[in-house]
Amino acid sequence: MHPNSTSLLFGLLAALANTFGGLIIIQTHWQREYLKYFLALGSGFMLAAAFLEMIPTSFTLFQASPAFVLGGYLMVHLFEHGLSPHFHFGEEVHTKEMLDPRVGISALIGLTSHSFFDGVAIASGFILSYELGIIVFIAVILHKLPEGFTVASIMMASGRGKLFSLLAAGGLGAATLAGILAMGIASGFVNYALPLSTGVTIYVAASDLMPEVNEEPGVKLSLSVFAGVILFVLTRAGLHRL
Ligand SMILES: [Zn+2]
Ligand SMILES: [Zn+2]
Repeated sequence: MHPNSTSLLFGLLAALANTFGGLIIIQTHWQREYLKYFLALGSGFMLAAAFLEMIPTSFTLFQASPAFVLGGYLMVHLFEHGLSPHFHFGEEVHTKEMLDPRVGISALIGLTSHSFFDGVAIASGFILSYELGIIVFIAVILHKLPEGFTVASIMMASGRGKLFSLLAAGGLGAATLAGILAMGIASGFVNYALPLSTGVTIYVAASDLMPEVNEEPGVKLSLSVFAGVILFVLTRAGLHRL
């Protein structure tokens, strides 16, 4: 299969996970306890994938790639937290902050731009190798449920209806697909796109997901981060044996 079609197929799965995450918020009676384990597993897997696969591969492609990794990290910081007065992963429960209509919209813009780079990351991976594509896809899909959940909860808390909230979660999926399509057109830029989306991955893992993991009392969730790293090691070993 051509890398573009493989990326699109996996991108569709990621987009579905975003929408499902949104559905969990609007179906208030649905279980959601397990989502925090996705946060923890996701952050461990993403950090391992970024430091052990994405950064080394970026560096072999392009010597100046560390500057792009830093650029990707700072870009998400700007869009999610610099331009947004209030944003964090997990359920939005701060009703006072949500009275300001700019809060919901700016958080939506921040999450949409990061989701676009989730797609850029998946497509860059598949352009370079099937193994890298699968590893990046797992890093993305593990945080897609909490991501859809987060955006739908922000929309509900800022007084938008269930349909709008679900559409916002689906919109993040659409942004991921847009990132994949963009790389289909601009695959020649993969040397820049991979390190840039690596920086995005590090930001999401270390600065979006990890604080939510640390909020939780007890050690179970903190240890799940290590389980994410082990999952990465096993996945990589399994892929190399194929
Ligand atoms: Zn909040
Ligand atoms: Zn994401």
